[in-house]
Amino acid sequence: MHACDARDAWTDFLTYAKKHCSAAAFGNWLLPIKVIEATDEEISLEIPNVFVQEYLLSNYSKELKSFLPVRPNGDLAIRFIMAKRDERTTGKNDREGAREEQVAPANKERQLKLNSSYRFETFIEGPNNQFVKSAAYGVACRPGQSYNPLFIHGGVGLGKTHILHSIGQHVAEHFPNLTVQCITTEALINDLVDSLRNKSIDRMKRFYRSNVDVLLVDDIQFLQNRLNFEEEFSSTFETLVNQNKQVVITSDKPPSQLNLSERLIARMEWGLVAHLDVPDLETRVAILQHKAELKGLTIPSQVAFFIAEHIHSNVRQLEGAINRLSAHCRLLHSEITEEMVERTLREMIQIPQRDRISVEEILKSVASIFQVRVTELKGYSRAKEIALPRQVAMYLAKEMIHESLIMLGAAFGKTHSTILHAHKSIEKRLATDEILRRQIGMVRRNINQK
Ligand code: ADP
Ligand code: MG
Repeated sequence: MHACDARDAWTDFLTYAKKHCSAAAFGNWLLPIKVIEATDEEISLEIPNVFVQEYLLSNYSKELKSFLPVRPNGDLAIRFIMAKRDERTTGKNDREGAREEQVAPANKERQLKLNSSYRFETFIEGPNNQFVKSAAYGVACRPGQSYNPLFIHGGVGLGKTHILHSIGQHVAEHFPNLTVQCITTEALINDLVDSLRNKSIDRMKRFYRSNVDVLLVDDIQFLQNRLNFEEEFSSTFETLVNQNKQVVITSDKPPSQLNLSERLIARMEWGLVAHLDVPDLETRVAILQHKAELKGLTIPSQVAFFIAEHIHSNVRQLEGAINRLSAHCRLLHSEITEEMVERTLREMIQIPQRDRISVEEILKSVASIFQVRVTELKGYSRAKEIALPRQVAMYLAKEMIHESLIMLGAAFGKTHSTILHAHKSIEKRLATDEILRRQIGMVRRNINQK
């Protein structure tokens, strides 16, 4: 292969690669590579940083072998040369210092994007999250000196970010000399990509490795399958931990289940791995009451239990429920009742809505809750103990069965106006009669659970 052939071969490879990757990947990863020298035996490529080399080899090593020189042992005959940094042109160290100063404000901006309401004081504790909370608090009180790294994992919406930011707030308030950097893995990757593009990767590395005292990384699972960044993260992480700088990581899975290198997994398991579990019923009720209070909303305790019983696996959904109820109350000036909650939160509170409910089923459920016979409900007795449950059955039929009033009336052997009247009168009673409201709630649940 002649010298010019190897250069041409590189151009051919670029033409090939351009058709097989996105324009962004091509621009970011392949275009910055320069051919420095090309001989029969070897091609020397100048790369701006090691990620570009990794990208090239992990994505194209097979193709490269068919374009570029190969050594007798079958390895690619590429020599990678790292491009010299800009200092070659700017030169002196004092200039370097000046540049650092220019960078500083941007770095400051990167810092402390902490949600001010995510604090230890607002994190409600229960048996299932106590351990994580105290580990996090321990770390926040003695950064770098207790568990390092602290790895917190748990399902969506269980408070991982809340805990992470609480550590950040606490450290920032109690250790003003320490620099806290709180970042999501996605933002970290974006930062890396930007630095690569601006050729400022070394500055960024230096920032993370020497300017940060407490590094809080949210959602590390997004590092999976990002080979180029995993290595960079690993070495930053190790450098910090080795200097006793505190690292806290959150994830939706434990380290062992992450698709990351064994080395990084082992490093993450080095300190303390803590699991954030779904809060139990009482804790969920306490969280609900707390969030409601913040919104100036009063939720009767049985209603709080009702919501917490139905929304069990995600605290963020509990918050969503509060937001909806609060909007509803404000707009309609209505009070929070179990009935109203059931109506407002129907799709959230996982009560399976059955497609077809029959009048017969309603009558049976009403009969069993009100301790009367179905035949009595179908009869004409005007005795209070019978007439009330009969009206309840009619009320529920109108609420739960999507049929015309005439059809419903026929099913009860009554006219449509009887159904309408029953519905109105029960609705009115519901506003004041707590016992009736509960009885009706029970009938509904009884029907829905069938
Ligand atoms: P994750 O990061 O685990 O997905 P978040 O930290 O974003 O979850 O939590 C979701 C919401 O639930 C946040 O608004 C948070 O304040 C709230 N939350 C979760 N757990 C608790 C808790 N124990 N006490 C108070 N609020 C909580
Ligand atoms: Mg989160």
